Amino acid sequence: MASEKGCVEIPMVMYEPQEPSAPEYCSQGGSYEYPAPPPYSYRETATAEPPVYLVSQPPIIVAGIFSSRPTPTICPSCRQHITTQVTYRLGKLSYLLCSSLCMVGCCFGCCFIPLFVRIFKDADHSCPYCQFHIYRYKRL
Ligand SMILES: [Zn+2]
Repeated sequence: MASEKGCVEIPMVMYEPQEPSAPEYCSQGGSYEYPAPPPYSYRETATAEPPVYLVSQPPIIVAGIFSSRPTPTICPSCRQHITTQVTYRLGKLSYLLCSSLCMVGCCFGCCFIPLFVRIFKDADHSCPYCQFHIYRYKRL
């Protein structure tokens, strides 16, 4: 059995290079308005200053991941990794429960219970460093 010398043809299979689709950042429709980035014209003016990192950072989408508890996230203001500071505030659900309890006859103090129970309140998430208000978690 003679071995085939160099005659082995490797079938060439052309794989189409899959270009990674550019991530689409939601620049519109977010709940926060970011200042427009400065026009990229620093090459002529900024000569004496140290290089400034003008990497356009995508807007941080913070809505949707919050609950009523402190949540680890990135502060949109100071861009640090933080765990949000939660402040509980009276929201629609608190007042709705209070008024509905009042209507069913619990007028002697019971109707105020929802005003003091945390799980019925809205939660304000803010940055513990810069006190930037990040998100308000609404029950209703
Ligand atoms: Zn911050």
